[in-house]
Amino acid sequence: MSRFVRSLAASAALFAASLLPAYAELDVSSLKKAIETSLASDYPKLDALYKEIHAHPELAFQEVKTAARLAAEMRALGFEVTENVGKTGLVAIYKNGDGPTIMVRTELDALPMEEKTGLDYASRAKTNWMGREVFVAHSCGHDIHMASWVGTAKTLLGLKEQWRGTLMFIAQPAEEIVAGARAMIADGLFTRFPKPDAAFGLHAGPFSHGTGFYRSGVGSSAADGLDITFHGRGGHGSAPHTTVDPVGIAARFIVEVQSVISREKNPTEFGVVSIGAIHGGTAPNIIPDSVRLSGTIRSYKPEVRAKLHAGIERTAKAAAAMSDAPAPDIRIVEGTKPVMNDPDVVAATADVLKAAFGDKFKLSPPTTASEDFSEFAGAGVPSMMFNIGVYDQERIDAARDGGPPIPSNHSPLFAPVPKPTIETGVTAMTLAVLGAFDQKARRK
Ligand SMILES: [Zn+2]
Ligand SMILES: [Zn+2]
Repeated sequence: MSRFVRSLAASAALFAASLLPAYAELDVSSLKKAIETSLASDYPKLDALYKEIHAHPELAFQEVKTAARLAAEMRALGFEVTENVGKTGLVAIYKNGDGPTIMVRTELDALPMEEKTGLDYASRAKTNWMGREVFVAHSCGHDIHMASWVGTAKTLLGLKEQWRGTLMFIAQPAEEIVAGARAMIADGLFTRFPKPDAAFGLHAGPFSHGTGFYRSGVGSSAADGLDITFHGRGGHGSAPHTTVDPVGIAARFIVEVQSVISREKNPTEFGVVSIGAIHGGTAPNIIPDSVRLSGTIRSYKPEVRAKLHAGIERTAKAAAAMSDAPAPDIRIVEGTKPVMNDPDVVAATADVLKAAFGDKFKLSPPTTASEDFSEFAGAGVPSMMFNIGVYDQERIDAARDGGPPIPSNHSPLFAPVPKPTIETGVTAMTLAVLGAFDQKARRK
């Protein structure tokens, strides 16, 4: 229980008979008011920062200008900034007396896709990605996260009397390829800098601004990559008996691998196998000598993950064996683990968020998406991610009534409404950090 809510309980009896609001309500609501006051003067700068970053997105591990821009912002606030941690990442530290260290993470990277929002600050950026020229767009909302991150830092410095300890603000590269968190940790994130007592991240999503949700325990899925090459023996399409047809083997595998999900995995447990790419052959009348497939494997629990990996491997081998083909090359690439939200950190944060936002912030079941924020919990840091909405409620209502569908993250039409979204991001994150300082200080 946080200080605010605890004092609410303690003072409830005292004030029960009076018309005075309980002390705790005064506390969180006065903090919220203080945050709103500071946002009223800070928002125009955050809006400009957001639009500038939005219009100039950079891809994973190429976020040089974005990182430099954030480094300048944090130095101007008085943070001690170290750049190039995990290639393009940065760490900004601010010490304010003895106390816990609380980490706040933003991502830096955008996506290799064309933005089609038509906004006047829309991205037209292009870059080279895996050998070809691609458009680049912030269609996941990482620009919202960056503006909220800078805004939270500024707000917390304005509330310096409310907390003691160290702020550790990190900007992480390459979330979209789930490689940046690991790169920062490998580059000494928790050895060259303090190991935090709690860590927070937020993510923007396609629901109404001013609302949010959070999860306790498992928050997202484990994501592993799958890459299989089926080998056959090429030949003429008119004489299949002289060949071993890898197209047929691949087709059999794609259909049959779903039995691992429907017949082998416990139906009450989450697990997904999706084949996203298949490459083989050059002409209608040539049976090729190989076919390559790639896909993604998602799960929550380690035992389900192991079962899916084993089932995929067995099914691929069996599909090849049925055609008397050579054994396939099977590569399962370990991706990221599920985000584990620390129940203690979640409890403290939920108290503060509820006091500030009422039932606009809700507890939610885990998402099937994945996030490399999981690496921080994996490194032993009690952590928590929460989500904030980005759209006008009217637009969501219209979609529900048969209007244009709501564009999700990674859609070329994803277009958050900046002001209420960033303001909610700053308010919720500032309160989460204050709640964690309070909780961790009492434990020390
Ligand atoms: Zn994304
Ligand atoms: Zn994202």
